[in-house]
Amino acid sequence: MTDIIDTLRKVRRGAMFIIEAPSGTGKTSVIRNLMTLDNNLKFSVSVTTRKRRENETEGVDYYYVSDEQYDKLLAEDAFYEHVDSQYGSRYGTLRSEVDSFINVGQDVVFDMDWAGLRQIKAKAPDDVVSIYLLPPSIHELRHRLEGRGTDSKEIIDKRMGMILEKMTHWKEYDYVVVNVDVAQTVETVREIISAERMKRVRQTGLPEFVENLMKEAEND
Ligand code: 5GP
Repeated sequence: MTDIIDTLRKVRRGAMFIIEAPSGTGKTSVIRNLMTLDNNLKFSVSVTTRKRRENETEGVDYYYVSDEQYDKLLAEDAFYEHVDSQYGSRYGTLRSEVDSFINVGQDVVFDMDWAGLRQIKAKAPDDVVSIYLLPPSIHELRHRLEGRGTDSKEIIDKRMGMILEKMTHWKEYDYVVVNVDVAQTVETVREIISAERMKRVRQTGLPEFVENLMKEAEND
């Protein structure tokens, strides 16, 4: 009996959790906390041409590549989706990265914008769960961006200008959470993840389990 229940828990189709927020909303902290608390969540490390920030690690936050290396990956069709950001950098999700997790029933967390979400949703509509984080206020957002101390004033001004435009896409997401407190937001997102894991279509072990229940009923 416990064997069947164990199998049921393990045989699952991995889901793709796409988390997005305007820069400075605390998305990176939320994602980092989620990854620490849940071993079955794997982070899809994207490729980017943007410069590494001081608090970031190669292969953990991004794979940092030159424009030439990025072009080569594009030509090889190595990306699941890719976007050119409005402020010059390019980002792409490696097919190999995602497939290695999804195929063995692990859930993948993506840090990607709405353009990437659209591309992935078109390819795998049943696998994608999208979550949008909002800042409690615009004032708080600027304060957080400045406090990070990693970007120049020019970049911050540019990003602030993009925030309102980016926020118009909030309605494309399945879930929206206002990030007042990181710990609370992490709990809320974990509840979303738990519920999504229980969706019938994701529990690929269910047909066998129900078949066994039916056999049991016949012999009862
Ligand atoms: P940042 O440079 O602040 O890390 O990220 C800038 C934007 O690029 C964010 O909105 C982030 O979600 C998005 N982004 C990061 N990686 C990817 C990716 O692989 N694909 C897409 N479409 N967007 C990404």
